[in-house]
Amino acid sequence: MNEIAPHATTDIESQYRSIFENAVEGIYQTTVEGRYLRVNPALAKIYAYPNTDALTKGLTDIAGQLYVVPSRRDDFKRIMQEAGVVSEFEAQVYRADGSVIWITENARCVRGIGGEILYYEGTVEDITRRKANEQQIRLLAKVFESVGDGILIVDSGLTVRAVNPAFEAITQFIADELIGKPLDILAPGYQEKTFMASVLDELMQRGHWSGEATCRRQTGSPFVAALSLATVNGADDVPAHFIVTCSDISFRKKQEQRIRHQANYDLLTQLPNRWLTTERLEQAILAAQRHKSGIAVLYLDLNGFKQVNDGMGHQAGDELLRLVAKRLKSCTRLSDIVGRLGGDEFIICAADLTGARGGLNLAHKVLYSFADPFVINGREIFCLPSIGVAHYPGDGNTADLLLRNADMAMYAAKQNKARPVMVFEPHMLSAAADRLDIENDLRRALARQEFVLFYQPKVDSSTHEIVSAEALVRWQHPEKGFVQPGSFISLAEECGLIIAIGEWTLREACTQFMRWRADGVALKSISVNLSPSQFLDRGLVDVVKRILTETQMPPGSLELELTEGAMAVDIEQAITTLGNLRALGVRLSIDDFGTGYSSLAYLKRLPIDVVKIDRSFVKDLGKSDADSQIVGAIIALADRLGFNVVAEGVETGEQANILQASQCEQLQGYLFSKPVGSGDFAELFAPAKA
Ligand code: C2E
Ligand code: MG
Ligand code: MG
Repeated sequence: MNEIAPHATTDIESQYRSIFENAVEGIYQTTVEGRYLRVNPALAKIYAYPNTDALTKGLTDIAGQLYVVPSRRDDFKRIMQEAGVVSEFEAQVYRADGSVIWITENARCVRGIGGEILYYEGTVEDITRRKANEQQIRLLAKVFESVGDGILIVDSGLTVRAVNPAFEAITQFIADELIGKPLDILAPGYQEKTFMASVLDELMQRGHWSGEATCRRQTGSPFVAALSLATVNGADDVPAHFIVTCSDISFRKKQEQRIRHQANYDLLTQLPNRWLTTERLEQAILAAQRHKSGIAVLYLDLNGFKQVNDGMGHQAGDELLRLVAKRLKSCTRLSDIVGRLGGDEFIICAADLTGARGGLNLAHKVLYSFADPFVINGREIFCLPSIGVAHYPGDGNTADLLLRNADMAMYAAKQNKARPVMVFEPHMLSAAADRLDIENDLRRALARQEFVLFYQPKVDSSTHEIVSAEALVRWQHPEKGFVQPGSFISLAEECGLIIAIGEWTLREACTQFMRWRADGVALKSISVNLSPSQFLDRGLVDVVKRILTETQMPPGSLELELTEGAMAVDIEQAITTLGNLRALGVRLSIDDFGTGYSSLAYLKRLPIDVVKIDRSFVKDLGKSDADSQIVGAIIALADRLGFNVVAEGVETGEQANILQASQCEQLQGYLFSKPVGSGDFAELFAPAKA
């Protein structure tokens, strides 16, 4: 140790001592081996020893007792050995109370004259807090770097100071393009400037702001961002920085929009769905109440949609619905509500239509627009709607009531082939209740064997001999008595029961035919009616084949009667089915000819054998020359095309004569007999047989 001369240096020495005693840094001298020679009170305090003696005496092994990682002392010694000094040597050390702190040391070797190391002397600073801050900063920096939200920091002059990688990714700017630049670079437009001013205003007042804004990427393309801004005050307590976090919510926005759309619109046709239609109708009612005006509600249901769907496939069905939606849009005003309730049901609500005629006129206009076929997969499909009309305020003052009543009227129209448009009338409500009853009963009727077949003879027009019979179904309702097919066949079609009923009818008619034959009632044939959905049912050909085998019915004696409507839906498919039926050997007949869409020219393409002229043509025969000529022309043409002709609904001798003169081969009608039960039929036949 250096000896300091006492006299000359007393003053200075006491000054140095004061510095040593009062310094805030710890000051020490240690042996190379690791013992404290001398320490100041500050070091004792840093290391939590009660006094300097406690430290110099109590701590004898710096490496083992002080350093948390003892090898740090070796590092320290190595640097001393090599450089003679260490600076800012950081280490973790144990304090006397066992707690751990971070220190930084600056030290040097004190050497003897020979250059040998006498001891070390140095200073110690407790940097635990700084270390913690650094750690914190590292952590925050990591967050800043890796967080998914974009972060932008600007100073109080609105100059960009930092952006994180997420911000770069979202905005497609690179940091260098932004840092040091005014914030304007991100919001160049005028509108953005006033927006920014208002945001800053609030920011200064409240210290934060959050909201959504449309921002622009580097490329100029816009995106919706969720923004949140916060101020960071400087030491002087005034805002020094603003932190902007932003996330790109364009995708979420789009999804929200899509969900909103899905909840309100029918995805297939893009028309308002039931929910939105009802809501808009409610709004229209409120407006009509104020203006004391009227609303017409049209309820449309497509005829034969099921046939298209079943016969041509769901894609064709979907396409038809899309085309119908388009057509409805094109024949209504922009202000009208056009919606789809589901299935093949559409709604049109037109405000400012007063009086019952208003809705009726619109309905006819709509109907007229359906006169052109829809082209699907290159095929022409005819599909007319049945339309029910209800009016506000007369038929109801809520959307639900108006829709229900328009639905009732639609149903009435559906039942009535001659009147595709019906305006609501109160009695339709009770009819609907009856209908529900009947539908329930119908479901049980087959199992309870409540159906019976009646037979109506067809006679040779020259000899009036019975040559054939048409089987017509009757329902013996336990309470209502005989129910005519007109009251339940269409209902059975709707609820799908027609397939089972039709199969029963077919089997029963064939069985009866064979029974008669065994009894000597020799008919050439028997005919059975097929409704459209039976005809379009894929199982039809198999069912017919199976029943022929089961009953041993000669196929040539079975005649199937079909209406034109069933075939007009999809001609190509109809031709295939007819061909398959014909291949079984059965005869095919077009029922109610002249009432549907078809012309004789188109009949030519169908593989059929018989045309049945509808009762409506026969009815006026003899009353006017024109009717006789029309019927004459039909018969002549049908004959030329190779079809047999049957006239139905023959009630008078005059009609029979005219038809016979026109070369109509067979006649059917009340003139000869009403439809009768099988027993009565056999008796009818008896005299002819004799
Ligand atoms: P349709 O096949 O055209 O049957 C002829 C209808 O005209 C029968 O009515 C018959 O009773 C009636 N009719 C016959 N001659 C005369 C006449 O001289 N004057 C008048 N005014 N009417 C006459 P019905 O039995 O009430 O049958 C009505 C319709 O119900 C049938 O028309 C047919 O389309 C359908 N239908 C009847 N039975 C069946 C069945 O088993 N299956 C299917 N799918 N439909 C059936
Ligand atoms: Mg018939
Ligand atoms: Mg008929």
